Amino acid sequence: MIQVHVQCPVCGKSLMDEEHKVDNCPSIAVEISYGKKRGPLRLSSLYGSYNIDIKVPCPVGKISRFFCPHCKCDLKASRMCEVCKAPMVAFSFKEGGTIQICSRRGCKKHLIEFEDPELEVRTFYERYSVFFKP
Ligand SMILES: [Zn+2]
Ligand SMILES: [Zn+2]
Repeated sequence: MIQVHVQCPVCGKSLMDEEHKVDNCPSIAVEISYGKKRGPLRLSSLYGSYNIDIKVPCPVGKISRFFCPHCKCDLKASRMCEVCKAPMVAFSFKEGGTIQICSRRGCKKHLIEFEDPELEVRTFYERYSVFFKP
């Protein structure tokens, strides 16, 4: 499994918690709210692992809201989960691109999206297109 290092898409601060381990790896630290309760949530940073450490009593099947622990912004992504229609939550990679997870507890939908998966291809064509011009 690959381990991901993510940051807040708004303030750019790292969401990694080196002290608090999940799956023996630094965890992804966010805040969530469910109903009137708000508290920390730690997610495994191993892509494909669903292990979490949750302090908020959000039942499986319910949607919670995710917040950056630094700037407190809502981490809601623009897209909805294809499986259960709950809002997706987005974290950014330092290198660009996002990892998105479903905000419904127990839903295993998650995806990695690069801002521009064709960037490399395009760069290649821009660099070499001169050779292809008539
Ligand atoms: Zn932030
Ligand atoms: Zn879902």
